[in-house]
Amino acid sequence: MQRIEHLINGETVAGASGRVTPVFNPAMGVQSKEVSLATVDEVDAAVAAAAAAYESWSRLSIARRTKLMFEFRNLVVAASEELAELLTSEHGKVFSDSMGEIQRGIENIEFACDVADHLKGEVSEMASTGVDVTTVRRPLGVIAGITPFNFPAMIPLWMAPNAVAAGNTFVMKPSERDPSVPRRIVELFHEAGFPPGVVNLVNGDKVAVDRLLEHPDVKALSFVGSTPIAKYVYETGTSHGKRVQALGGAKNHMVVLPDADINLAADAGVSAAYGSAGERCMAISVVAAVGEVADPLIEAIKVRMEKLVIGDGMDPASEMGPLVTREHRDRVASYIDSARSQGATVVVDGTEKIFESDGFFLGTSLLDHVDTEMDAYKDEIFGPVLSVVRCDTYTDAVKLISDNPWGNGTAIFTRDGGAARRFQEDADAGMVGINVPVPVPVGYHSFGGWKSSLFGDHAMYGHEGLRFYTRQKVITSRWPDPSTSRVNLGFPTND
Ligand code: NAD
Repeated sequence: MQRIEHLINGETVAGASGRVTPVFNPAMGVQSKEVSLATVDEVDAAVAAAAAAYESWSRLSIARRTKLMFEFRNLVVAASEELAELLTSEHGKVFSDSMGEIQRGIENIEFACDVADHLKGEVSEMASTGVDVTTVRRPLGVIAGITPFNFPAMIPLWMAPNAVAAGNTFVMKPSERDPSVPRRIVELFHEAGFPPGVVNLVNGDKVAVDRLLEHPDVKALSFVGSTPIAKYVYETGTSHGKRVQALGGAKNHMVVLPDADINLAADAGVSAAYGSAGERCMAISVVAAVGEVADPLIEAIKVRMEKLVIGDGMDPASEMGPLVTREHRDRVASYIDSARSQGATVVVDGTEKIFESDGFFLGTSLLDHVDTEMDAYKDEIFGPVLSVVRCDTYTDAVKLISDNPWGNGTAIFTRDGGAARRFQEDADAGMVGINVPVPVPVGYHSFGGWKSSLFGDHAMYGHEGLRFYTRQKVITSRWPDPSTSRVNLGFPTND
């Protein structure tokens, strides 16, 4: 059985504890590998390697760091298909979706390639007579990145490139459910020429995360995962004096107004709800159907659902793959019965779909007449289940979003520019789509939700992400002109 090990200081380090957890091929429903779970000592070794590398890495010129980042970008581009295949084999999403994820990750590397421009700083010449003030942004030290299973390429690439481009060193702790792609990404950093210790990887579970949260040499933590763990990571990390950005779960609403183009809205709803089997933090899980749009929209969604091809992600015909594990598939499936028993109408029951494979497959489900008291509405299901909540008015739909504890993304479908413009302001969420169902910002903007979808002050990647990985230093300098020098005991004022 292939075992996936840690990568510390440029070397593979076999887990000493013998504690391992299985990694599955979800399309086949069989264990394909196992992954070592780090001990406290192994986490300490990774942090020590990163701390040692920081001494010289943080002093390396931006020009040299940038050259390495370009090289890394080129290697990831060249390895895209290999990475996508690996990703599909452990996550289950279809190959084209894996390629798309890697492409979005490459955007983040490209942003980091431009670090010289992003870190230029600010100068106020002659702030006072003969005095110049310069603000620069300095790295923090060792950064830890803890990532979820659902984007094993893109989310590590949200973090590591910006962190190291800014002069920090990095310890990655990826999800134990699909660890091969993050590991390959760290190998590519080394193949690009990054010195040992600049980017390290420890596989693990709560033991590893808890050690990173309390380790005195870890200066900042980036986390992406479910809301309860995000909250825990934020509270524990900050209580140990660290800077923390912790992105949590989501319940994303798509408002469809009566004037919307039904076909466009149905295409978007089906793509955003069932793409990647609903295992996206920006998936649409609720359609807020306003007024008379509900019936024709549900019909149009249903027609499209019937045509979806669900199968092995490596089969080019497949549009949706399996869920990540058997337990997760069964948990998602349980929401159909619970919704039915709590009064929802099950328009399409994905649990009835028969699959010949033993993979962790589940059909797509559509629930109507869902209300805010039902479990299917209250919980983040994170699977191919779309709930329709019928709203009488636009105002009711906006209130639904505001009252929801999460605030990652939301979208509106309408042909009315005024209504769309109003929604842009009214929507109580961090990322808003206007006729765009999954509004994941491009790599040079930043990604972050509101409310229980983000704990901390900084969104991830782009300028805010880079800001999170740096702190400011302000230098006030004066080189007195001998011809004007004099003694002055007064408090320095600006003149
Ligand atoms: P998860 O919270 O179970 O795991 C995330 C990370 O935390 C993993 O590395 C895991 O090993 C670690 N972890 C798990 N339990 C822990 C514990 N008790 N103590 C310390 N660490 C622990 O999340 P997941 O199931 O891997 O990913 C899916 C979740 O991530 C969903 O809720 C999804 O919405 C969310 N997500 C959010 C975003 C976003 O940008 N807001 C993006 C992707 C995924």
